[in-house]
Formats: sequence, structure tokens, C-alpha cells
Amino acid sequence: MKHYTILGGGIAGLTAAIALRRIGIRAQVFEAAPVIRPVGAGLALAANAIKGYVKLGIAEKIISRGRLLPTFSILDARGRRITQADAAAIGRKYGLHNFAINRPDLHEALLAELDPEQLHTNKAALRVEQSGDKTTLFFKDGSTHETDFLIVADGIHSPIRRQLLPGSEPRYAGYTCWRAVIDNPGLPLSGATETWGAEGRFGIVPLAGNKIYWFACVNAPQNDPAMRAAGVPDLERIFQKFHDPVPAILRHTPGDSLVWNDIIDLKPISCFAFGNIVLIGDAAHATTPNLGQGACQAIEDAVVLADELAAHDTPEAAFAAFECRRLKRAHFIVNNSWQLGKVAQWSNPLLVSVRNALFRMIPESVNERQLKTVLEVDF
Ligand SMILES: Cc1cc2nc3c(=O)[nH]c(=O)nc-3n(C[C@H](O)[C@H](O)[C@H](O)COP(=O)(O)OP(=O)(O)OC[C@H]3O[C@@H](n4cnc5c(N)ncnc54)[C@H](O)[C@@H]3O)c2cc1C
Repeated sequence: MKHYTILGGGIAGLTAAIALRRIGIRAQVFEAAPVIRPVGAGLALAANAIKGYVKLGIAEKIISRGRLLPTFSILDARGRRITQADAAAIGRKYGLHNFAINRPDLHEALLAELDPEQLHTNKAALRVEQSGDKTTLFFKDGSTHETDFLIVADGIHSPIRRQLLPGSEPRYAGYTCWRAVIDNPGLPLSGATETWGAEGRFGIVPLAGNKIYWFACVNAPQNDPAMRAAGVPDLERIFQKFHDPVPAILRHTPGDSLVWNDIIDLKPISCFAFGNIVLIGDAAHATTPNLGQGACQAIEDAVVLADELAAHDTPEAAFAAFECRRLKRAHFIVNNSWQLGKVAQWSNPLLVSVRNALFRMIPESVNERQLKTVLEVDF
């Protein structure tokens, strides 16, 4: 019997393990962390991702743990609408849309689908060796693991991708980000919002269980010690002129709930398939979060990979077909998200006013075309 191994127990790795199980392949998952549990932060899943989970037969189990939001609006710093997307109207065309979930809840739902014996934690891979038909993974703890086929899903910093494609290093987008999930202190929220001001961006996403996920992006040098040290009072100062309920949300945020990281992505790479090894998720095509599509693309990867494995005689041919189907779409998302982030992070007040006015004038047909390209997926 041939052995399949998945490196990384994130959204890509776990979803791939579930997708493979549905076609009769029991993969072993190796994860660096001692426990598979992501940071407490929210995640928006668009119609394409939900369609992926429908294909895998687990959509209901995931939807029951999150919250469907009626609208997604972009606002200016005074709270006036720039654009608004209606999830029901989009849903009629593309399927259930604008769903938000706390990351640990999504992981719990995915883990519940797998046999615990498939999962191996505390296994940080350092490098890989391909010899004949076999691939050997070398781990930080000195152990090794031999496999026939390797699915690399170990995220943007993937040491395996960097070994296979030297120079494929993450690039800094120019802005840094704080996130938190807090208990709702009684604010009447229904849809998700993102506010674009000269000081930065502030997103608010209501979650199930009366919780709120918020994020804030500010322009800064990479790995800036001042940003690393920034706490809630600093963010209150930066966003003090933003409309309600931004100041109230920050006031109710416990300091120890803040998650901080610089925003980075992976400049599009030329291949995902390397014989009996394939890259998926952020390891292959990490994107900035501006389109809310990173995890959605990882979920698409898992579904398409299983489809191709079911359709081809050899996994090598399936991996090559996967690359063919995924490369162009993944690059489209990475490039568009990068460009949107540049515009959304403008900090010159005059330019910000002009941008907001122009965005308000974008015809519905243009927004619709953009949405169609992102949400329509070739499952
Ligand atoms: C601020 C922010 C907001 C975002 N919001 C959204 C959103 O709303 N919607 C959306 O769709 N996407 C969003 N994303 C993107 C999304 O988080 C990622 O695209 C997604 O988590 C990628 O999943 P992954 O499994 O490929 O990688 P990861 O989530 O990075 O998982 C990789 C896994 O591999 C493990 N690992 C790492 N190195 C090794 C190693 N050497 N050996 C073994 N295991 C290893 C890690 O511990 C981890 O468990 C956001 C990203 C950011 C930064």
C-alpha cells in the first residue's frame, strides 16, 4: 500500500486529510505544534469555501459553529458607507456567503472528522529528501518519516517550499495588524464592517456566542519594535477619531487577547508540484488578507487535490493536474489582494477622500464582475 503524508495541521492540511479520506486515502498528518489549536481570531469564509465544505459533506457541521452575516460594508472614518455587499443577494448566485467563525471552532470541527491516530504533533519538519520513489522528512527532534507522496501544507514559512524553490521567501506588505476576539459588551452589531481611514483600517466581525472579532491594520516598517510593544491604549489613540463602536470595542479589549503580526504574503511562485511532492494552502500561495481568501483558497486546494487524485492513475499526474488547475487562480487572488491592500492603506487624507469618493462611484456591474471571479470556483 502506498503512503500519503500531509505536513501541517492548519486549515489546508486538515481539510486535505478529510478530502483524501473521502476518496479512500488515509493520510498521516505531521504538525509542528504540540497541540493543534490556532490563535483566537475570527475567520470569514466566502461562498467558494463553503461550497468546498459542501463537497466534502461537512458544511452543516461547520456552519452550526459560526455565524452568517447579512452584509459586509466598507465605511469611512466617520462611519459613512463606501460600499456594501448583501450576502443574501450574493448567496442566491454563488451559495451561502459571508460566514464568520472563530478559528479554534473551525479547527475543532475539522479535527472531529479525523481519526486521532492520523495526527502526529510535535513534529517540526526541517527538510526533505527525494530518493527514487520515496520521500523522507527530517524533523527537528531528530526523527525521520518515509512516505510515497507528500502534501506540504505547513504555511507561509514552509521550510520545504524554501528548499524546493530557493528564494521563495515571504514579502512584507507595508502594514502591520492586531486582532482579537472579545465578548460583546452589548453593542448592537449585525453585519461585518471594515473602516478605511487615513490612520489605518479597522474591521469588525460579529461571531457566534455573542463574541466580536476585530482587526486593525496600520502602516509601519517591518518588525517595528514600537508596533510589537503597542498595546490597547496605543490602538485607542490611533483610532480615537474613528466612528462608534470602534473606540468602545477597543475599550473593552483585554490586553492579553491581542494577537499581533506583520502582514506578509508570498510573491506568486511558478510551480506547486514536484514529482511526488505537492504544495497547498499558504505554503503554495499565501496572500494578504484583504480579499479574505487565504483560507478559502486552502479549502479549494484540498477539494481540487482530492478530485485530481481520484481522476488520475498516478498521484504524480494528479499533482501536476492540480498545479495546472490552481496556479492561475491562486496568483489572481494573491495579486488582487496585494493591490487592494495598497489602496486601502493610503494615509494621505486628501487621497483617502478621493479614493472613498471613487469607490462609491464604482458601478454595480464592476463589483459584480470582481465578485464572480473570486466566488465562482471550478469544482
Ligand atoms: C490577519 C489575517 C486575517 C486573515 N483573515 C482571513 C479571512 O477572513 N478569510 C480567509 O479565508 N483567510 C484569512 N486569512 C488567511 C488564512 O489565515 C490563511 O490563508 C490560512 O490559515 C492558511 O492555512 P494553511 O493551513 O495553509 O496554513 P497555516 O494556517 O499557516 O497552517 C500551517 C500549519 O503547519 C504547521 N507548521 C508550520 N511549519 C511546520 C513545519 N516545519 N513542520 C510541521 N508543521 C509545520 C503550523 O503549526 C500550522 O498548524 C487571514 C490571514 C491573516 C494573517
